[in-house]
Amino acid sequence: MGFGSGHRFGLVKTFQDAASITGMTNVLVVGGGPAGLSAALFTQKNGLETTVFDTDGTWMHKAHLFNYPGIGSQDGSAYMATLRTQVDSFGVERREQEVTDVSATDDGFVITTSEDEYEGSYLILATGADRGLAESLGCAFEDDLVEVDLSMETSVEGAYATGAMVRAEEWQAVISAGDGAAAALNILSKEKGEHYHDFDVPDDAAATFGVDGE
Ligand SMILES: Cc1cc2nc3c(=O)[nH]c(=O)nc-3n(C[C@H](O)[C@H](O)[C@H](O)COP(=O)(O)OP(=O)(O)OC[C@H]3O[C@@H](n4cnc5c(N)ncnc54)[C@H](O)[C@@H]3O)c2cc1C
Repeated sequence: MGFGSGHRFGLVKTFQDAASITGMTNVLVVGGGPAGLSAALFTQKNGLETTVFDTDGTWMHKAHLFNYPGIGSQDGSAYMATLRTQVDSFGVERREQEVTDVSATDDGFVITTSEDEYEGSYLILATGADRGLAESLGCAFEDDLVEVDLSMETSVEGAYATGAMVRAEEWQAVISAGDGAAAALNILSKEKGEHYHDFDVPDDAAATFGVDGE
């Protein structure tokens, strides 16, 4: 499925020669926990080049899951290992870099990391409880929480927020993963121009993980 002819993506191409920008992507994801990788899985799987920046401080390394639907009992780090393998299999680019700044441009977003700058059309903030980047981007807040709509879009068009920065105490991995998926489907719907669903059919089910997901 090709979304590359979309207006936003066309504009991004005009930035490709800019000397100060060293990386280009359709979707910039900051944070590689359940929220960020869930978002990246959906966007990359459906044709949007997606880059995830992460410092591997996910709370999942402290967790043991007995309450993630479909998983009986699993160590949080083992869950992360599977999720990373899953997004890697779809071609998500993961970079172990801290994002230190983010700003909106006329056509998208620029993020600054410890090593480089990257340009993207959409931004998904998935930094857990850390709201610093949402603040510097100028997202609206209500009390201490980033304001989002049902698709997790913030007051800054094209910028999404997920997880503990938008939720008071509703801190469960499955909720964060759902936030990321909701953001991704909204981005895909915008690019497609109609409500988008990522439904697979049995014929292609075995391609990556085998018949029963092994
Ligand atoms: C002790 C403990 C036990 C838990 N047990 C459970 C449980 O049993 N079941 C359950 O569902 N949940 C549990 N949780 C909660 C669960 O871990 C979180 O809900 C989940 O990890 C949130 O996912 P997230 O993707 O929103 O954020 P996180 O998992 O926190 O991921 C955020 C990621 O963003 C990265 N990051 C932050 N800032 C930057 C930056 N500027 N640049 C780049 N990367 C950045 C961090 O390093 C981190 O990897 C537990 C949490 C704790 C602390």
